[in-house]
Amino acid sequence: MIELKDVSVKYSNGVDALNNVNLKVTDGEFVFVVGNSGAGKSTLIKLLLREVQANEGEVLVNGFNLTKMRRGKIPSLRRTIGVVFQDFRLIPTLNVYDNIAFVLRCTDASPKVIRQRVPRVIGTLELGNKVKCFPNELSGGEQQRVALARALVNEPKLIIADEPTGNIDPRLSFEIVKLLQDINAQGTTVLMVTHEHDLVREFGGRTITLRDGSIVFDDYI
Ligand code: ADP
Repeated sequence: MIELKDVSVKYSNGVDALNNVNLKVTDGEFVFVVGNSGAGKSTLIKLLLREVQANEGEVLVNGFNLTKMRRGKIPSLRRTIGVVFQDFRLIPTLNVYDNIAFVLRCTDASPKVIRQRVPRVIGTLELGNKVKCFPNELSGGEQQRVALARALVNEPKLIIADEPTGNIDPRLSFEIVKLLQDINAQGTTVLMVTHEHDLVREFGGRTITLRDGSIVFDDYI
């Protein structure tokens, strides 16, 4: 669950990146966030991950009150969120299995949990014949699926996909939205940031448009 109440973010150079934003996303929703460059999309993501803090208002994410939370709680918050980055951020020196397992190793997961969960997401994303491959041996679509597997392996309540279709061809853009929809159908909340209006029109659903730091549209299309 995400709730922003009258939230404003002002950077130290005086830029108002978010102005008085009110937003509620309940568990299990699939939401597109669109907006031109500079609209505040990245700031919104950083706010949810507690990489930036609100100057005003209240931010609630997955049961954490980010406004009042102490720094020591940040790792616990981030374990409830899986992020798919635009540039995938795979580790070039690790094969597919270890790229995915790495995420769990960073959270001190037990070897037993790793042995259970890594094969599960490998199965979900149909990467079974690629486990020993390194990122440079994968196609764009396969790299994208590894990135998604890495976001999923912590079994997060919320997936944030940050322009996951930015660097790939339209067919793969379509594929990743379908994969995210499948994941959403299993109960995970998905927030997908994109500048591809065509994709949003094609899939439809709740769409939030940011412009100059304000929500100017929040409805189903
Ligand atoms: P988007 O992701 O939609 O392109 P951003 O959230 O990156 O938008 O940016 C919103 C506004 O905040 C822009 O005017 C941008 O220049 C400014 N901004 C972003 N990050 C910083 C920063 N670290 N310091 C100062 N200004 C920033």
